[in-house]
Amino acid sequence: PPRIGVLELHGDFAEHTAMLRARGAETVPLRCAADLSPTPPLDGLVLPGGESSTMAILLDALSMADPLRGLIAGGLPVFGTCAGAILLSDEVVGKGGEAASVALGGLDVATRRNGYGTQVHSFEAETAWLPADVAADADATTTAPTAATDDAGAVAPLPTGPLRVVLIRAPIFERLGPGVEELVSHEGRAVMVRGGSQRQVLAATFHPELTGDGRVHALFLGMVDERRRRLAADGGGGKKA
Ligand code: GLN
Repeated sequence: PPRIGVLELHGDFAEHTAMLRARGAETVPLRCAADLSPTPPLDGLVLPGGESSTMAILLDALSMADPLRGLIAGGLPVFGTCAGAILLSDEVVGKGGEAASVALGGLDVATRRNGYGTQVHSFEAETAWLPADVAADADATTTAPTAATDDAGAVAPLPTGPLRVVLIRAPIFERLGPGVEELVSHEGRAVMVRGGSQRQVLAATFHPELTGDGRVHALFLGMVDERRRRLAADGGGGKKA
């Protein structure tokens, strides 16, 4: 199964771990710099929701920011939700519009923290799931024979129909760079995007880990699978990543 490192400094990492395991992935807790280069190596990374400022401070204090940037730049698939999406943004603005510091970057977007307002402006909504071709890719991956299974050998079934998005003190992607693809939107705004130098970065302003809808994690694991197959075809040239 794919080995996914989940950043466990703060935030809702336990929910991500449960979602990934339900889709058959193996999870590796990331709590210090040494955790970032395990043997065998990681196949993907997840950055949870929480407070991006808290995570940024901890990443620096634990000397994890540089190695994480290196992994992402090397093409390792990474998925960030909410605060995790903020960490991945190349440009961050505070709720007052002032520039805020970039923690990791890698995704060419400008993101406004707490873009909808404070906690009382948190909400849930339904949106259309992915464009059909992208969804078909995700489904194909989870039903392929190489698809990971959990300890009992079964993969949790994927729901169908609209996607429920939960936005909690959520950020807003205010600008999407030229290479950034909008995958899911709500009221005309992108709430999930894919980009990065190798299309390896997935970022959502909502929390699929809280709704138990496995489609988003399945999509991410599809990206992970895609890269593993590519590296295998290249003769294992990606060992160092
Ligand atoms: N408002 C938080 C931040 O700025 C993100 C909230 C979340 O992850 N649910 O980091």
